Amino acid sequence: MVCTACGRDYALDDPVWKCLCGGLLDIELDARFPREQIEARKPTMWRYREAIPVGHEHPVVTFDEGFTPLLPVEIAGRRVLIKQDHLLPTGSYKDRGASVLISKARSMGVKRVVEDSSGNAGCAIAAYCAAAQIECAIYVPSDTSPGKLAHISAYGATLQKIPGSREDTAHAVLAAAARDYYASHSWNPFFFHGTKTWAFEVCEQLGWKAPDTIVLPVGNGTLLLGAYIGFNELVCAEVTEGVPKIVAVQAANCNPLSVAFRRAVEPRLTFEQRETLAEGIAIAEPVRGKQIVDAVRWSGGTFIDVTEEEIESAWREMGRKGFYIEPTSAATIAGLIRYAAGASPDEVIVSVFTGHGLKSTEKTLKLLDH
Ligand SMILES: *Cc1c(COP(=O)(O)O)cnc(C)c1O
Ligand SMILES: [Zn+2]
Repeated sequence: MVCTACGRDYALDDPVWKCLCGGLLDIELDARFPREQIEARKPTMWRYREAIPVGHEHPVVTFDEGFTPLLPVEIAGRRVLIKQDHLLPTGSYKDRGASVLISKARSMGVKRVVEDSSGNAGCAIAAYCAAAQIECAIYVPSDTSPGKLAHISAYGATLQKIPGSREDTAHAVLAAAARDYYASHSWNPFFFHGTKTWAFEVCEQLGWKAPDTIVLPVGNGTLLLGAYIGFNELVCAEVTEGVPKIVAVQAANCNPLSVAFRRAVEPRLTFEQRETLAEGIAIAEPVRGKQIVDAVRWSGGTFIDVTEEEIESAWREMGRKGFYIEPTSAATIAGLIRYAAGASPDEVIVSVFTGHGLKSTEKTLKLLDH
């Protein structure tokens, strides 16, 4: 692992989640893709074993997740491909990150982890900790709806309810992280080396080719940066020739990265947000903000901000096609609808359903009410 701020490096089995200097850690590895071996394995994200930084001598923590369908869907009158990651074991793509991160934690002999998330990351970490028999405490804002906490509790995780904002919860967990392993989906680099398998699967499902464009949500960027890492590793291993253009979608009511991208400045540390249906990506202070903006720019991509009306209408449209997704996931589709309308006819566009509708029944009832 290498610090992005000072360049200091750490062994892969050092249980650190940030540098001593406070900087973010990234993992550098020489990913390999032995295609014949890969294709002979079970259709799970772990078929890319040689590209995942968990030692082969350790059994991994897995529910055979991954290899979700890449389905053609008609969007804005043209064909796009949507990866069905709402079908993963806990109902969101966060399982990819949790499977690798908790596998790594268990291989290092970690007995107890902490994480802060009121949503899908907390759920995924709790489920994989249950499978690994690792104790797990999830820090959540005290006003999180009971429906969301039910899923996390069912896995036997301890809930630590913190008064105040989402950022207050993030600060509270840092104190706990001084004692216990911090299984953070935003800080811990192993999480991103799980979400990157999304890119490997898309590539293999397209006949070992990269798409032209990927349309992804972004709050903390756990899928976006994972996809960026994954497609770059495929290029370095000479499997594909280029990284797709990344179109990053934010809710207009909470769009700090989109603003930074447009003004060509670094993301601000304090950002005024308004409420949004896409609460899963409403992140005012993303710790990897600069990396995200740089990745989008480097890929030749752009940002799209979607309104509440667009999110709601995309959510309804997907329901009418037989897809039941979370309102947060509908934000990505709203961006996809806008992007696809202006794209060239032969462009291969891939997007994603990030979370299952069954996760947000309370919100669904409100949406159906008007
Ligand atoms: C985590 C998540 C996202 C993306 O969020 P990031 O903050 O960018 O990691 C999008 N949709 C859903 C349903 C999620 O759970
Ligand atoms: Zn450092």
